Amino acid sequence: MSYQRPKGTNDILPGESEKWQFVEETARLLFNDYQYHEMRTPLFEHYEVIARSVGDTTDIVSKEMYDFYDKGDRHVTLRPEGTAPIVRAYVENKLYGPEHKKPYKVYYMGPMFRYERPQKGRLRQFHQIGVEAFGSENPSLDVETMAMAMDFFKQLGITKLRLVINSLGDKETRQNYRQALIDYLEPHEAELSEDSKRRLHENPLRVLDSKDKRDQQFVADAPSILDYLSESAQKHFAEVTKTLDHLQIPYEIDHRMVRGLDYYTHTIFEIMSDAPGMGSQSTICAGGRYDGLVEELAGPATPGFGFAMGIERILLTLAQEDVMIPAATELDAYVVGIGEGTNMEVQKIVQVIRQFGYSADRDFMQRKPKAQFKAADKAEAKLVLTLGEDELQNMQIKVKAMRSHQEKTFALADVYEDFNAIYDEMMLENMEE
Ligand code: ATP
Ligand code: MG
Repeated sequence: MSYQRPKGTNDILPGESEKWQFVEETARLLFNDYQYHEMRTPLFEHYEVIARSVGDTTDIVSKEMYDFYDKGDRHVTLRPEGTAPIVRAYVENKLYGPEHKKPYKVYYMGPMFRYERPQKGRLRQFHQIGVEAFGSENPSLDVETMAMAMDFFKQLGITKLRLVINSLGDKETRQNYRQALIDYLEPHEAELSEDSKRRLHENPLRVLDSKDKRDQQFVADAPSILDYLSESAQKHFAEVTKTLDHLQIPYEIDHRMVRGLDYYTHTIFEIMSDAPGMGSQSTICAGGRYDGLVEELAGPATPGFGFAMGIERILLTLAQEDVMIPAATELDAYVVGIGEGTNMEVQKIVQVIRQFGYSADRDFMQRKPKAQFKAADKAEAKLVLTLGEDELQNMQIKVKAMRSHQEKTFALADVYEDFNAIYDEMMLENMEE
């Protein structure tokens, strides 16, 4: 009998988890620069919250939900994305209240769940970092949020990127375009995929998002939504592109891009990685404006803008671009104990060093001194402290700076009372070398 993790999930092991921390820490610092604050919502929600926001005819809701009835017969689902839960929380906690808090800017990071066909960069439990800003219709907010995403990738060291934008306009736009799209697709109806046939009248925009090769042939010549933008939608989109130009942020416009969620309005965008080997998983960030969503979840009419990025895909991109990730772990001191009699004192020494705010480690496997020194070397310890039974008897300890190979003997009492001073003195040795 052997147990395996569920298909489409990963164990993120030490060696890999440091990379995750680097990505997450970079995001937290940058989001603070833009004055976003963290929100944490439950990993599961009432089914309706997701179905209403994401849309019944989307792939996410119609095929990919991890939903079930709990023991109290409530229909719940693991969250497939982050925006709907945040909007639910925004309404439930009445965060739309105070005028001075607008726009209300939050970020989140954590696991999402979708029943998909697992591939590289496509998992059933995957992880997103996302942001939402509520309460402003200003096109500059669209641009700021896209700029923040681009900044984030720049800070990570990713360079082969493309920002692709489009506008889905407002209600009026969607109504006009919907009819034009139906008129265009109807003559081809018999040749469309089953999904697209069904969606043609329920939600024709979804056909544009089809992953079916044949559907895509027809979609290629479909009318452009940009020709159907209402006057105010046109104005909004023009402001967005002008502002991007003004900030010298390069972008492309793709009038066929619709995104896989129904709640978007006006500006939508994707950031694609052009690193080799990303395949059809090259979208590392996606988002846009969702001015009707808060109302959809029974809140007051409130505009919104947000994005989500897939951490697994970001890590793939970092690997494909050979980005060096700075090592997060550092070992300040390794304490070598020679002889059984030193076991207890070695434990005291590492504890004390940690109390002084340094990282410290020791051997727990009764290894020979040589193997302990090797372990210290491998962990790239800056200082190695050696306590033999003789030293212990004299209440002394040897301290070696590993880079300069300088070694000095100190009184144990000095370690216990003022390890800072020993550390500084020995590190100076390291630097002078
Ligand atoms: P795709 O078209 O690749 O299925 P999507 O439109 O479903 O993506 P969104 O729901 O917009 O994706 O999610 C935003 C980001 O989250 C994506 O750009 C991607 O980086 C990541 N993502 C989405 N689904 C997955 C998944 N199953 N596994 C890993 N990452 C994912
Ligand atoms: Mg998808």
